Amino acid sequence: MADKKVLIVYAHQSAGSFNAAVRDVAIKELSEQGYQVIVSDLYAMNFKANATRDDIIGDLKNPDLFQYGEETMHAWNDGRLSDDIMAEQRKVEEAELVIFQFPMYWFSVPAIMKGWMDRVLTQGFAFSLKNMYDNGIFKNKKAMLSFTTAATESMFRPNGINGDINIALWPLQNGTLHFCGFQVLAPQIFWNPAHRPIVDRTAMLEKWSARLKGLIAEKSLTYAKCEWFGLSFEQGFLLRPEVQEEHESNVYGITTGHHLGKLLPPDNQIRVQVTDK
Ligand SMILES: Cc1cc2nc3c(=O)[nH]c(=O)nc-3n(C[C@H](O)[C@H](O)[C@H](O)COP(=O)(O)OP(=O)(O)OC[C@H]3O[C@@H](n4cnc5c(N)ncnc54)[C@H](O)[C@@H]3O)c2cc1C
Repeated sequence: MADKKVLIVYAHQSAGSFNAAVRDVAIKELSEQGYQVIVSDLYAMNFKANATRDDIIGDLKNPDLFQYGEETMHAWNDGRLSDDIMAEQRKVEEAELVIFQFPMYWFSVPAIMKGWMDRVLTQGFAFSLKNMYDNGIFKNKKAMLSFTTAATESMFRPNGINGDINIALWPLQNGTLHFCGFQVLAPQIFWNPAHRPIVDRTAMLEKWSARLKGLIAEKSLTYAKCEWFGLSFEQGFLLRPEVQEEHESNVYGITTGHHLGKLLPPDNQIRVQVTDK
C-alpha cells in the first residue's frame, strides 16, 4: 500500500461540477505517482461547519464562560475532541500535501470549508504561539488552494474591479495555511469556467494535469521569517529594527501583508518569487 498520502479537502455540492472534474484530475495524476489520495468530500459527509460546544466530549474546563479555542485546545490534549474532528486531524497528520478544492465564495472558501478550518485546525494540533509560521507545526507539509471563480483573471488584477487577487488570498494563505506552518504552494486558479467554451475548460484541466506532475517538488511561496520579528508581547511581535533597516532601500515590501508602506511585491501570493529575501 502506498504510504505517501495527499489529502484533498473538497467542497462542492454537485458531482457534475467543474470542481469535481478538477478533483478527479488530481486524484488520477497523484495516484499514478504512487500517492494514496484521500478525499474529504465535505458536503457528502455533511460536515458540521459551526464551531460549538458539541465538539468537546465531556466536561468543560470553564463552563461559566465557554471559550471555543481554549476548550478545544484542552480537549485535543486529552483526546476529547468529537470523532469527526479527530478523523480529519488524523488525515492531516498523515498527509504530505493538503489540497483545498473549492469554488470561491465571497473572496474566500465556502462556509463548510471554513468550518473545517475552524474545527480541525485546533490550537495544540495545528499551532501554538511558539509554533507558528515557518516554525509552525506543519512546516514539513505542503498545502495549496485550488479554486474556481466566476470572475475573470482581469477582474482580479490590481487595476481590475475586484482588486488584487494577492490581497484576497493573503488571509487564507498566510493567516491560515502558513500560520499553521504549511509550505504554501502557489494556488491553482480556474478563472470563470462556467462562461468559457468547452475547449478552454478542457485546456484548463490539461494544464492542471501537467502541473500536478511536478507539484510536490515545487518551491513554495515566500513569506517573512519568524526570526525577523520580536517574538514576545513586550516586543509586540514587530519586525526587528535591523530587519526593517535592511529592507529600507527596497522598492517593494517584503510580502503582500508585510508591505512596509511600499509597493506590493508583484504576485507575491500567486507566484514563487525569484529573490528569496
Ligand atoms: C455564495 C457564493 C459566493 C460566490 N462568491 C464569489 C466570489 O467572491 N468571487 C467569484 O469570482 N465568484 C464567486 N462565486 C461564483 C462561484 O465561485 C462560481 O460559480 C464557481 O467557482 C464555478 O465553479 P463550479 O465548479 O461550480 O462550476 P460549474 O458551473 O459546475 O462548471 C462550469 C462548467 O464546467 C462544466 N464541466 C464540468 N465538468 C467538466 C469537464 N470534465 N470538462 C469540461 N467542462 C466541465 C460544467 O458542465 C459547466 O458547464 C460565488 C458563488 C456563490 C454561490
